Amino acid sequence: MMRRDQFETIKNMLANLNEVSGFYQKKLAAIDLDSIQGPADFEKIPFTNKEDLRDAYPLGLQAVPDTEIVRIHSSSGTTGTPIIIPYTQQDVTDWAEIFKRCYETAGITNSDRVHITPGYGLWTAGIGFQSGAELLGAMVIPMGPGNTDKQIQMMIDLKSTVLCATSSYALLLAEEIARRGVSDKIRLQKGVIGSERWGEKMRRRIANELGVQLYDIYGLTEIYGPGIAMSCDHECGMHYWDDYLYFEIINPKTGQLVPQGEIGELVITTLKKQGAPLIRYRTHDLTRFIPGDCACGLHYPRIGTIIGRTDDMVKVKGVNIYPGQIEEILSEIKGTSSEYQVMIDHLNGKDIMTLFFESDPAASKKAVETDVKKHFKTKVGLTIVPKAVAIGDLPRSEKKSTRIFDNRY
Ligand code: ZN
Repeated sequence: MMRRDQFETIKNMLANLNEVSGFYQKKLAAIDLDSIQGPADFEKIPFTNKEDLRDAYPLGLQAVPDTEIVRIHSSSGTTGTPIIIPYTQQDVTDWAEIFKRCYETAGITNSDRVHITPGYGLWTAGIGFQSGAELLGAMVIPMGPGNTDKQIQMMIDLKSTVLCATSSYALLLAEEIARRGVSDKIRLQKGVIGSERWGEKMRRRIANELGVQLYDIYGLTEIYGPGIAMSCDHECGMHYWDDYLYFEIINPKTGQLVPQGEIGELVITTLKKQGAPLIRYRTHDLTRFIPGDCACGLHYPRIGTIIGRTDDMVKVKGVNIYPGQIEEILSEIKGTSSEYQVMIDHLNGKDIMTLFFESDPAASKKAVETDVKKHFKTKVGLTIVPKAVAIGDLPRSEKKSTRIFDNRY
């Protein structure tokens, strides 16, 4: 539920944005601002969609004069026009401040050496990890992505203690370190893993092979970047910073708030952003609120680990499937690894889902396949075609990887 102070902040923001011609005036024209009298009225405000942000390309989202903008970032334009987000000096400072809070939530201090592998440039990742770590006073090793040889060499020589990476790149590094037999030279203690959804099994593999405790970090370019939510030592979802952001969780089909604790799409309203404030922005990320207090003592509320994207959700024979579910099922079956790929085809008038997964060389392929098929039928209600392959047969990626291929259309 929205707090009074959050409501007051939002009400002031709406009044200010109503004076900004273009994107914001157009958006707010649809509502009578005087009718927004209390938190309950907030839901009258229409959502902001990714499409609205694309339509504002290049700088339609800029809410302050040019003289106040110090930087822009952009979302990767893999699907059409990119989104450009302008930042003021205060936005940059605020982002570093909340990122520092993320590191502190993971018990990272100014004695740590923070090895940063996410990319730099228009993309928000690298520089966010760096600014937060510098504000904390830690030693930053700004590697950026790629060049695994150099990554491992620097990690050994500089005695990196914290690895910041995507889950797929952390897995690739973990496997390379094990393959080269240099695990005893690695000094990593913690891994801060962001930007992708990843299963329990993959988490255990990375943690075991690197000998680290792992933390989830969440964020998106449209709202600062990574650093808006972070897991703590207790690994029970991620704390988010409700003094900077207001979160809602909706049913992606109806747009209505879901009952407390149910899974839905995360919708974010910024409370302090100046360069490009966003109101009820639909993230397409699926998660839920976690009720109650956390054992770590932090008073910031929590969301669950992101279990997928509304657009990754595929319907096979009338059943909704998300990547998070597949990972969960595989993690419960002995002899499977965390890597998988799904092919959905339409043959002879029927949808067919084939699940490729890596299986332990010691396990019988036939037995694991039978187990996976049975679990899928019981848990999801769908009969699939299971195909076990050898460890290492499925592609690893340094980028966000797509694991579901829908060949029906
Ligand atoms: Zn906690």
